[in-house]
Amino acid sequence: SWLRICSKLKGEVGEVEYRTWLTKIALGPVDGDEITLLLPTRFLRDWVRSQYGDRLSELWNQEVSSIRRVELQVARPGDPTAPTALLLEENPTPATANTPSEPEDTGRTTPEVKSDIVASLDTRFTFDTFVVGKPNEFAYACARRVAEKPSSVGFNPLFLYGGVGLGKTHLMHAIGAELLQRGNVSVAYMSAEKFMYRFIAAIRSQSTMEFKEQLRSVDVLMIDDLQFLIGKDNTQEEFFHTFNALVDAGRQIVVSADKSPSDLSGLEDRLRTRLGCGMVADIHATTFELRISILEAKAAASGVVVPAKVLEFLAHKITSNVRELEGALNRLIAHANLFGRPVTLEATQDVLHDILKAHDRRVTIEEIQKKVAEHWNIRLTDMSSARRARAVARPRQVAMYLAKQLTSRSLPEIGRKFGNRDHTTVMHAVSRVAELMERDAAFAEDVELMRRMLES
Ligand code: ADP
Ligand code: MG
Repeated sequence: SWLRICSKLKGEVGEVEYRTWLTKIALGPVDGDEITLLLPTRFLRDWVRSQYGDRLSELWNQEVSSIRRVELQVARPGDPTAPTALLLEENPTPATANTPSEPEDTGRTTPEVKSDIVASLDTRFTFDTFVVGKPNEFAYACARRVAEKPSSVGFNPLFLYGGVGLGKTHLMHAIGAELLQRGNVSVAYMSAEKFMYRFIAAIRSQSTMEFKEQLRSVDVLMIDDLQFLIGKDNTQEEFFHTFNALVDAGRQIVVSADKSPSDLSGLEDRLRTRLGCGMVADIHATTFELRISILEAKAAASGVVVPAKVLEFLAHKITSNVRELEGALNRLIAHANLFGRPVTLEATQDVLHDILKAHDRRVTIEEIQKKVAEHWNIRLTDMSSARRARAVARPRQVAMYLAKQLTSRSLPEIGRKFGNRDHTTVMHAVSRVAELMERDAAFAEDVELMRRMLES
């Protein structure tokens, strides 16, 4: 985790600053929700605290959700808090004794139940922080229902499925958090992968009975990313038995996977059949509206003002998964905090250069026409129609202008795509739009936004 934080910081502050200040940091002990970082001198400590303190806390919290605060101390030689500290310069491996493990393992564990299979839930993933929209409202409703009344007829098992980064894990943690808040239930959450490793470890240490008993003693068992069990026949078998035992005993099961039960070929038929017996809820790909809502919610929570134009830009550019969208926004926010500069479209392009590039593709005239038509609310067919009303003609000119700017098509080629117009018409459109952009700042901004959205 520390190494990841270091590399993030390095990316954010640049090599020189990083080497000057941040390589001097050593890891100190973790105490509850606080990690201590050690610096060799008081001056360095004060400097790092004032310049990077908040950012360090944020990064730690992102990596290890249980850590809420970072304490900076001067490491005195021979100080008992210091000995395991290490300088990154000298040794790139973090001190394992003091380094918290991966976030999945270290979320706040619940005091109610002690056994090591109980849920370690990420406290950021709650129903409150889940933004609901058309693509996920059904899955959300099912998850809420299960959290309110586990083991209801028709909802057991609850099978959540959908693509990467669409909120399956978030919903499962939210179910767990809600259940625990309501009290007196034991909840076990683990990825299918971890389930397998636990199972194998139990076999090795000849403690499979205990493992089974532990699992079968919980009220709610949640297994994330079940597709991992494909091809792992023994683990599947074990899961199947656990599953049956729990359902027969009236306990709730929640499972997630990247496909529906019927599409999870490679899972045993009898398991697939049972998985499909309760409620199967699909999380669909996000829509533009949902992406905007998610960005708005996250920006608001961060306290940094992010202009609507920037949010729209991100929601247009990063369509694949919420995790990436969130990552991009977090980076913007971190930058704004770190450098105290307002977030602008230009800054966004700059800061997110690499992310945006990964989402680039070669833009086609058809795409330009579609996006421009959508933006100005005209029909796509009007891109090639003979209508000359301003409301139609202006967007058409913008589309031609963008086609000239963003593609390598010649003027006659562009003309042909716009209802067989002459190349001089295209030329006129291009110069007219350029002229308007100079006179009308709002119009220029609109066109710029379009360009950024389409740009490759
Ligand atoms: P999955 O398990 O389906 O791959 P996750 O649940 O891990 O996806 O979600 C990825 C990231 O996106 C998480 O940080 C999660 O909080 C966030 N996320 C996904 N969907 C939503 C949503 N509807 N509202 C808020 N955050 C979301
Ligand atoms: Mg997941």
